[in-house]
Amino acid sequence: MSSPILRRKTRQVLVGNVWVGSDHPVMVQSMTNTDTADAEATARQVFELWRAGSEAVRITVNSAEAAAQVANIKTKLENWGCKVPMVGDFHFNGDRLLRDYPDCAEALAKYRINPGNVGKGSKRDEKFAFMIEKAVQYNKPVRIGVNWGSLDQSIAARMMDENSKRAQPMTAEAVMREALIVSALESADQAIAWGLSPDKILLSCKVSHVQDLIAVYRDLGARCDYPLHLGLTEAGMGSKGIVASSAALAVLMQEGIGDTIRISLTPEPNGDRTKEVVVAQELLQTMGLRSFTPLVTACPGCGRTTSTVFQELAQDIQNFLREQMPIWRAQYPGVEDMKVAVMGCVVNGPGESKLADIGISLPGTGEVPVCPVYVDGEKDVTLKGDNVAQEFQAIVENYVLT
Ligand code: SF4
Repeated sequence: MSSPILRRKTRQVLVGNVWVGSDHPVMVQSMTNTDTADAEATARQVFELWRAGSEAVRITVNSAEAAAQVANIKTKLENWGCKVPMVGDFHFNGDRLLRDYPDCAEALAKYRINPGNVGKGSKRDEKFAFMIEKAVQYNKPVRIGVNWGSLDQSIAARMMDENSKRAQPMTAEAVMREALIVSALESADQAIAWGLSPDKILLSCKVSHVQDLIAVYRDLGARCDYPLHLGLTEAGMGSKGIVASSAALAVLMQEGIGDTIRISLTPEPNGDRTKEVVVAQELLQTMGLRSFTPLVTACPGCGRTTSTVFQELAQDIQNFLREQMPIWRAQYPGVEDMKVAVMGCVVNGPGESKLADIGISLPGTGEVPVCPVYVDGEKDVTLKGDNVAQEFQAIVENYVLT
């Protein structure tokens, strides 16, 4: 898919077997919510996220028990044919874990270090330097991931002090945004001074409000050439999380900012963790940045459709396409750009169906119970009876396979 969006020029960073940066597609990332010490559960969730389309998966490495299992998790995944890069999320004790568990340091494809959660005072620099030393030793890239909720307080205090001396002080919010950016950039400078190549650095500055996120990343993007990881932290549950993340990330990506993304959704209890991957893919695809799976165009329905047949058909076809994609994409390059329409009645049905590669117009209430199917803009066949869904699915499959 060719995109009209001009990406912000960045360095290119290799994360495991995947390149990240402006020369490469925006990467989809996700994160597990299992206890990493439970190797079986974590490996299964990483596998599921990868199978759903996540191109890197972050796991928390928060304890000795967790660090001890990281290499084991990687081996399990490789035995299942999964080589997705695993990113280790370190806070507070990352230096000790990387020192005590060399297998963990080696198995991870990238370290995420939050400079606000490394330590305080001179200890902070000592511990951060040690983690960077380990990244250099094991030839790993590092995401310096600053977060509004765990901002380095010494930087925040310094920024507020400097601001109080300005002739025209910035607002408190602007000072905090500046502190986030300074924390990320100064930490990157330190990492380079301690021997990490600039081509091994990615940055993120996550906040939980849409306008703050946009302002921070516009500024950060203009002040460095590191690849940027985008995400609205604590985006929330359900539609709120999806809308807020999409609103923020879409504005930035439209301006070419962002090289990897994560949609941080709070899952429902026992909910499907892979939803955040699907949402990330759909966001990139609807913006014309990447293609993953054909998206079904479906009308919303109205008083002309009093049954749910066409909504069910649209959902069935979307699920069918999503399930087939891992197989089809390898065999039929470009299949992900296919357009499919499922429409409720003759008002817009034939028109939308003709614009799609394959479309079907179902009978609205009171219409003749027939369903014209259009292929490549031409009427192909008319389906009737109880098996319309199965027959239309067969037509879609046949279109791809021939
Ligand atoms: Fe209603 Fe028909 Fe339009 Fe669908 S296509 S929203 S059923 S008028």
